[in-house]
Amino acid sequence: MKQRDTTVVIGAGPYGLSIAAHLQAKNIPTQVFGKTMDFWQKMPADMYLKSFWSAASLSDPAGKYTLDKYAASIGSHEQRPIPLPFFLDYCRWFQEHAVSDIDPTYVQSLRHDGKHFQLELIDGRSVEAGHVVVATGIASFANMPEFAHDLPSSLASHTQEHTDLSEFKGCNVAVVGGGQSALEYAALLYEAGAKVEVIARDPIIWINRKLYDRTGPARHIFYPPSDVGPPGLNWVIAYPQLFSRLPDKMRDSIDKRAVRPSVAQWLRPRIEGKVLLTAETRIVKATPQGKGLHCELSDGTTRDIDHLFLGTGYRANIDTLKFIDPELRQKVLTQDGSPVQNTSFESSVPHLYFVGALSGFTFGPICRFVAGAGAAAHQIAQHVAHTTTHTSDTLVKA
Ligand SMILES: Cc1cc2nc3c(=O)[nH]c(=O)nc-3n(C[C@H](O)[C@H](O)[C@H](O)COP(=O)(O)OP(=O)(O)OC[C@H]3O[C@@H](n4cnc5c(N)ncnc54)[C@H](O)[C@@H]3O)c2cc1C
Repeated sequence: MKQRDTTVVIGAGPYGLSIAAHLQAKNIPTQVFGKTMDFWQKMPADMYLKSFWSAASLSDPAGKYTLDKYAASIGSHEQRPIPLPFFLDYCRWFQEHAVSDIDPTYVQSLRHDGKHFQLELIDGRSVEAGHVVVATGIASFANMPEFAHDLPSSLASHTQEHTDLSEFKGCNVAVVGGGQSALEYAALLYEAGAKVEVIARDPIIWINRKLYDRTGPARHIFYPPSDVGPPGLNWVIAYPQLFSRLPDKMRDSIDKRAVRPSVAQWLRPRIEGKVLLTAETRIVKATPQGKGLHCELSDGTTRDIDHLFLGTGYRANIDTLKFIDPELRQKVLTQDGSPVQNTSFESSVPHLYFVGALSGFTFGPICRFVAGAGAAAHQIAQHVAHTTTHTSDTLVKA
């Protein structure tokens, strides 16, 4: 068995875990690097998932480790909405049953020597691999609006920087953004004792699922289990392989329609009457003043606040993945910052795969959600199985 036949999965979030489960079920020697679900562990513990139950299972080929199976195993039932700690417990259970061994070490560099991939880990070890799956999530894609670029993090920070909001008790804060993340952070900040204003560029859209609520059992005609996008488009989005065959322009317009910021109804009572909503307004300038921040808004008004939270989302771009060696990066063909991929999620570099938000350009908005992990895992495991010799070891060089 040769180390170069190992498949390395970089990342142990919903995508990395699902892909590893599919690879290992095919007896493909696999090594997974990264910290299990660490992006989600850093979210405030009292958050809820936006995803519905049917869209939040990780994927194993036999479907033995779904949320339903987990709930049954602990004598629980479907949660609406799903509390974050419940989801994290489920993912831990999934990992224990479906994925053997995760090496909780970060990859520092990934290069290709012409024949194989070479990975350096941050603890000094090195690994050789025949196939590599990049499943490193969205953390490095955090979008900072231009007005905030030069502000110190003590005054303005992306929402993903915050786990414990209790330190903002008694503070006067603003949250920029009109999506689920921004509004949920706003509710949590209010509940932590802060005075909160949401400033959003567009009107706030509360998700309307009248069709779901009114159609009884027929709702499954209108809503596929993956539940990404509005009725009609959601069925196209549910099949990433089909989506990838649409013309560029059509994919782009479906994507824009499907991922426009919107907020779950269950959040509404925690916002209305508690948090000031200033929609269709932008911050045009923010300047440190005294211990706080002085903000000028597009409607001509100003705010003096203690802290500005940027719930401004994520923009996938391969160039933010600094562990990819520049020479290898050059060989990955891209369009709009995303790798060009074949139907197996493989990039222009043979045996190098990208999943999650980076594959959204080709496979659509489902890739930004847990619900997209199954299709990616299935395709990649099939492809690796066809292109690998099953005689390998998974040793790491000291
Ligand atoms: C506030 C918030 C709420 C969300 N709610 C939902 C929701 O309800 N439903 C939903 O479907 N999606 C939700 N999302 C989107 C969610 O982040 C993605 O669906 C999901 O995390 C994608 O999984 P992933 O495996 O690609 O990435 P992640 O979960 O981010 O996992 C990335 C993994 O990569 C590892 N990693 C990173 N860099 C390296 C490296 N150099 N070397 C080794 N390992 C590395 C990390 O340790 C981690 O294990 C939410 C996002 C946010 C910000």
